Amino acid sequence: LEGELPSPLNPPSGCTFHQRCPYAVERCRQEVPLLREVDGRQVSCHRAEEVGEADA
Ligand code: SF4
Repeated sequence: LEGELPSPLNPPSGCTFHQRCPYAVERCRQEVPLLREVDGRQVSCHRAEEVGEADA
């Protein structure tokens, strides 16, 4: 991940990684991803199925 760490005093909307995540899409900016299970792993990422093994 690159770029500035998000400020804990002013967290970004949507996914907290969206400013640095190379997979970020518009939905990531709008909607916080909920924790869910994908392929037996707990993830909170809108694109977990698409990005596969990436730590998302
Ligand atoms: S792709 Fe996943 S980790 Fe990346 S910004 Fe979207 S929800 Fe967050």
